[in-house]
Amino acid sequence: MPASIRHGFRARAHPARSVPCPHEPCHARAHQACIVRVNGRVLKKLHPARIAAWARITACCPECQVQPGIPCHDDGRARTDVHPRRIQEAKETLA
Ligand SMILES: [Zn+2]
Ligand SMILES: [Zn+2]
Repeated sequence: MPASIRHGFRARAHPARSVPCPHEPCHARAHQACIVRVNGRVLKKLHPARIAAWARITACCPECQVQPGIPCHDDGRARTDVHPRRIQEAKETLA
């Protein structure tokens, strides 16, 4: 296939787009871009909460040693976000 097309594939959307956005009041559905509800503006980036949700279901956390799907925790207290290393881990899982 021509290099130009292959390049397009590599520059694909962020993998976290495959999950719905839990950010209030965005709630973008899976495979839709995050938006600003008040003005309907489409964001180039995803809400951090969406990336965290994606990392939570995709990867184990190297920081607190939980399995995919289990929220991160600090000393037993569940976090609403995830440890930054888990996001890194999720990216590497897909690589
Ligand atoms: Zn969003
Ligand atoms: Zn963690």
